[in-house]
Amino acid sequence: MSKDYYKILGVEKNATESDIKKAFSKLAHKYHPDKAGGDESKFKEINEAYQVLKDKEKRQKYDQFGSDFASGFSGGGNPFGGGFNWQDFSSQGFGGFNNGGVEFDFGDIGDIFGDFFGGSRRSSRRSSRGRDIQTEIQISFEESVFGVEKHLRLNKKIICDKCNGRGGTNQEKCKKCNGSGKVTIQQQTFFGNFASVTTCPDCDGSGVTFKETCSKCNGLGSVSGSEEIKVKIPGGIADGQTIRLSGKGESGSKGSQGGDLYIIVRVSKSSKFERIGNDIHSTVKLKYSQLIKGDKILVDTIDGEVKLKIPEFTPSGKVFVLHDKGVTKLNSRGRGDHHVKVILDIPKYLDKEQKKLIEELEKRGL
Ligand SMILES: [Zn+2]
Ligand SMILES: [Zn+2]
Repeated sequence: MSKDYYKILGVEKNATESDIKKAFSKLAHKYHPDKAGGDESKFKEINEAYQVLKDKEKRQKYDQFGSDFASGFSGGGNPFGGGFNWQDFSSQGFGGFNNGGVEFDFGDIGDIFGDFFGGSRRSSRRSSRGRDIQTEIQISFEESVFGVEKHLRLNKKIICDKCNGRGGTNQEKCKKCNGSGKVTIQQQTFFGNFASVTTCPDCDGSGVTFKETCSKCNGLGSVSGSEEIKVKIPGGIADGQTIRLSGKGESGSKGSQGGDLYIIVRVSKSSKFERIGNDIHSTVKLKYSQLIKGDKILVDTIDGEVKLKIPEFTPSGKVFVLHDKGVTKLNSRGRGDHHVKVILDIPKYLDKEQKKLIEELEKRGL
């Protein structure tokens, strides 16, 4: 199928390089897929046209071969050999029109083409990243309410102290990538044959290799060991919740990113208190006379003893609310409340005199 690259960019056949660049900038801006009214297929088409017309040699061949070019570009048998070159595209194509004041950066392009260019890079990073680890920590009910700082000792892969995690000594420039950390590979995609830049496999992107491999870690950069970890557990955390410490998992190879540490928090049960949401609940047993006559009592809360006035004629089972004596709210401000339920404390034994008095009360209708 034939494609008129001049028409796509809206320029004349005799347009100058700067006309082409200007036209491309304007159209790429207009049809950029992240823009309102953007059009990804149009954007790609414009870009394809620009890649050819901005290049003197390609443009000349395009003029010469005409319609044959388009099919050659997107499939096999491209008369121009290398096809579309990623480096070319990023550094000259977009760099150029960035300077023209268009808000549009390399990251935008990455998103569009991420599927084609991201793959190999991402997987090579993932393979050298340290493993995630999971552990549990037990804290008291009180610690869960107010928060606590804990120290854990973990056996895991740690950075090799002999080579500082580098994997070797006598550093030299990586021969494969010439110290850049990146290599260009050819990738076959449905757009054609792309040259894409990926992390150098020999040096893992660091740009350096070593004359001598570290004897302690065999070049891995990490060794088995143990590390003390300090963890701040926030007030309000509930039993079973997990804290993630990023990078505190096992060390990666050759100083690459560590894995994450997941700490599952286990909260011990309290003999006095029960947590429901952010509120703390407790029960207090009161004597018949206290409920009938009223009283001033001390109630155990997580903050210590708190005075509570029991009014006269309080029924058994009544709940009193002590504001802000509950659990610290984990993701907002303030605290929950303390709910005290008062219940009648029925005696298990009466002496002779008490029994007589109860019978007296019964006679008086109580
Ligand atoms: Zn080492
Ligand atoms: Zn390298």
